[in-house]
Amino acid sequence: MCSNWDSVSWHAPCRRKPPSCSARRGGKVSAVETDDGRMLPAELVGYGIGVIPNGELAAAAGLDVHNGIRVDETLLTEDPAISAIGDAVNFPSPYCASTIRLESVQNAVDQARTVAARLVGKPAPFTALPWFWTDQGDLKLQIAGLLDGHDQTVLIGEAESKHMSVLCFRLGRLIAADEASAPGFDLKAYEAATRPAA
Ligand SMILES: Cc1cc2nc3c(=O)[nH]c(=O)nc-3n(C[C@H](O)[C@H](O)[C@H](O)COP(=O)(O)OP(=O)(O)OC[C@H]3O[C@@H](n4cnc5c(N)ncnc54)[C@H](O)[C@@H]3O)c2cc1C
Repeated sequence: MCSNWDSVSWHAPCRRKPPSCSARRGGKVSAVETDDGRMLPAELVGYGIGVIPNGELAAAAGLDVHNGIRVDETLLTEDPAISAIGDAVNFPSPYCASTIRLESVQNAVDQARTVAARLVGKPAPFTALPWFWTDQGDLKLQIAGLLDGHDQTVLIGEAESKHMSVLCFRLGRLIAADEASAPGFDLKAYEAATRPAA
């Protein structure tokens, strides 16, 4: 798996307000200071941020739950009466080689549209381009596509500035765009550019 250290998260300064966090490059950790003033020697600090999908109800209903509720490309579980969408769902995506679970508002909304269309007689596979956005301080961060597996990046704009794009390529093909307050963000163009071959 590829990290996105060379994408926007690497180039963008942390601009949260109030400045309760800051991002620094270089240097080495030598100690951790606790809130009661103790200084604990440390060579390495590990932290974890993540989620565990809440699949107990689905499992109790007899559904396949493995890193989320397993669904097919139309977001249907193995029970034809039960669809599943959102953070808790492990689904096949044309944008990655295996199944994936995505945690974003846009993914949940796009998946809801796909299921709603099927329920009114317009079945179609879920193929929406993964698109993430978040407002962090005065930055609007957006990612179109999936960054994992990129082997080349192209920075457009100034590193460490408020406006920049990092285009991520795999084997010469655009797979994702990672942007900070980029005025030219064009989801439709990225949809067309990153669409996997049929
Ligand atoms: C701190 C934080 C910041 C985030 N910021 C962003 C962001 O900037 N941009 C972005 O795109 N996404 C962001 N997300 C992620 C985003 O909130 C989720 O991806 C999105 O809400 C997923 O929608 P969902 O409907 O799948 O799940 P949820 O919104 O979590 O809704 C699931 C609901 O099901 C209920 N539920 C669970 N189990 C049961 C049960 N057994 N019985 C009945 N009800 C149950 C829960 O109480 C909840 O109300 C953030 C998440 C967090 C926690």
